[in-house]
Amino acid sequence: MANALHNAAISRVMFGDQYSISRCVVPSLSTLPLRAMHKGKHVELNRTVMVVKAKTNSDFDDSDVDISLSHRVNAVKLSKTLSICDHATALLQAGVPVIRLFFGESDFDTPGAIAEAGMNAIREGYTRYTPNAGTLELRQAICHKLKEENGITYSPDQIVVSNGAKQSIVQAVLAVCSPGDEVIIPAPFYVSYPEMARLAHATPVILPSHISSNFLLDSKLLEANLTERSRLLILCSPCNPTGSVYSKKLLEEIAQIVAKHPRLLVLSDENYEHIIYAPATHTSFASLPGMWDRTLIVNGLSKTFAMTGWRLGYIAGPKHFVAACEKIQSQFTSGASSISQKAGVAALGLGYAGGEAVSTMVKAFRERRDFLVESFREMDGVKICEPQGGFYVFLDFSSYYGREAEGFGVIENSDSLCRYLLDKGLVALVPGSAFGDDTCIRISFAESLTTLKTAVERIKKALIPLSSSALV
Ligand code: PMP
Repeated sequence: MANALHNAAISRVMFGDQYSISRCVVPSLSTLPLRAMHKGKHVELNRTVMVVKAKTNSDFDDSDVDISLSHRVNAVKLSKTLSICDHATALLQAGVPVIRLFFGESDFDTPGAIAEAGMNAIREGYTRYTPNAGTLELRQAICHKLKEENGITYSPDQIVVSNGAKQSIVQAVLAVCSPGDEVIIPAPFYVSYPEMARLAHATPVILPSHISSNFLLDSKLLEANLTERSRLLILCSPCNPTGSVYSKKLLEEIAQIVAKHPRLLVLSDENYEHIIYAPATHTSFASLPGMWDRTLIVNGLSKTFAMTGWRLGYIAGPKHFVAACEKIQSQFTSGASSISQKAGVAALGLGYAGGEAVSTMVKAFRERRDFLVESFREMDGVKICEPQGGFYVFLDFSSYYGREAEGFGVIENSDSLCRYLLDKGLVALVPGSAFGDDTCIRISFAESLTTLKTAVERIKKALIPLSSSALV
């Protein structure tokens, strides 16, 4: 009991009064392990172990259940885009007319021919498990696409189809990274990359880039940060969140650096390949001299074909690595949906770069991009870099930080600016902090032009009181 009181005192010192000790789990002080729980995390505790739980966790208040979670899950953050989505959706459900511009999802419907192929699959009873790596028909269609559009040769056994590109990426990270390895991630980055590295117990190494250089990775910075621990470089072009597109010349420069490091592989996330605005063009990293052997291409159908809910992505690469991804998938999920794979074959059959169905969507995205760029370019205190691909614009609003809004407080960073714009402007956006760049916020233009016009008016109006307020 003396121990319990002692532990309770420590818990108050360490965690304040909102935490309590639910039980002591140690046999004797001398052999005590060193862990305690704090907000679901194990905490080192001076040779005293106890299970501490939040008093607010009513599910477990009087229970003896050890609510500790794995180190793996504790190391990972919840996706910020998903938590903002939940918050804004809750407001909408409460009747607040919020405009949601945080989605990484096209507002278009899946083109009719693709949807029809999915429906036919159901009608024809094509509803059973498929091979773990994906149907041969779809893998052949992917090989054909990679040859025709990217000039790279793969055979079906060098392709694994998954439930979305996200699964393809995490499986690749888990397949090639070991504890202590470094995953090199240019920032701003797609939110999941660092967390995926952490899931593999690898260390994310973030390389910042700047709006003044169109948020492109500085090859000298890359070179300076590569070591024998560097295992994977993740490139994303066109980039979510910045819309930056890597030119062939810059990719060649990067390839020359990569070639000097035999341990280093490249994961090339090409999910937005076809949502690109001329004169920008897409170069697949594996097509560069000497890079095929060490590149894992990830692509998906979510963005290009407005198929987010169908959950279809794939990886292409040397068989040795792809087979490792396949092995992981065989224990996680097995093959992707049979119905979606039939739809995927139809999508890839629409013609070069998705044919007219895709070019019509890209034309609309381009019009929206032009509208946003024009609207924000003329605004004081905002820096913008015109996106060359994707459906996001990543705007530097940092000149508003340090300003105070009546009834809200000080805008400290991208998180508080987003909260402010949600509160006062009823527009939900994603803070740059989620992507590793706190100076910016991300606006998705996967919404109609009419909605975007209303959103811009609301944002501008909400920012007026900030512009006129003094810096604090
Ligand atoms: N990569 C990037 C850069 C993305 O933006 C996304 C989705 N937002 C994904 C991968 C995952 O896409 P999906 O799993 O829907 O194919």
